[in-house]
Amino acid sequence: MYKELFSIKIRTSKEGKHISGNERIVPKNKINETVFKLLERQKNKDFDFSNIKIEKLKVNPEIVEKTLKIETLFFSNYNEAKKYAIKLLNQIVNLPENQLESIIGLLYEGAAPDGSNMRGAMLVNTDGKRVEIDKFKGVRTVLVDYVDREKIEKKLLDNGFTTRTADALALTTKNMLHPKIIAEFCISDDPDYTTGYISTKDKYIRLSPLKLEGLNKGGRVYFIQSDADLTDIYNFLQKTPVLIKDIDL
Ligand code: AMP
Repeated sequence: MYKELFSIKIRTSKEGKHISGNERIVPKNKINETVFKLLERQKNKDFDFSNIKIEKLKVNPEIVEKTLKIETLFFSNYNEAKKYAIKLLNQIVNLPENQLESIIGLLYEGAAPDGSNMRGAMLVNTDGKRVEIDKFKGVRTVLVDYVDREKIEKKLLDNGFTTRTADALALTTKNMLHPKIIAEFCISDDPDYTTGYISTKDKYIRLSPLKLEGLNKGGRVYFIQSDADLTDIYNFLQKTPVLIKDIDL
């Protein structure tokens, strides 16, 4: 049923600066319409470079029945939300709250060595060490999509969410499938989007707001067990395709 699947990746930038990236996994007969839809999504963006890569999957995807369960919590300001996130992470990751605060604080300042946003996620282990191989690039979760994205996006829109949730939910659901990744923290680098999230093994908890309006910094931290095999984590996130059937509202 899932043979001949293709990954379609689109990446757009201006003056060398990343603007947006998107990925789909579809059967061969859906490639054209999917490329068109991806182009439609970025047509109003101000860019000078866009690259589309179409590649046949080398291995069969892992099929997942459902995403993490979506929960949304509202706070009076972003500091309250951040405090909540740190308390929750403290229970899961077992690191002291002040250490978690400085790790997460990096995302609010730009976690790359030059103070810019990283392209991918930071990896922090349960000893509190930052272990991603490249501190500019971080690790990027790729090769994840929904079996029927149209159906999922409609379901999310009908329930008051956006396509942004579809993307983040798919990505973090894949992350949490790895046995050694135990939690994730994320704030967008989009200055107009202040809702962030924390994921645990079973929940995708949206926290609103998790950053100040207007801040163009953001990023992700994947918390991993300190005995994790890094090569295995990189391989899973970058090379194992995952297709998700449904969302858990
Ligand atoms: P976004 O949710 O797209 O605003 O992304 C927020 C931040 O998450 C970015 O600045 C990157 O640091 C990181 N990020 C974006 N895409 C990925 C990905 N596919 N895998 C890991 N980290 C990512």
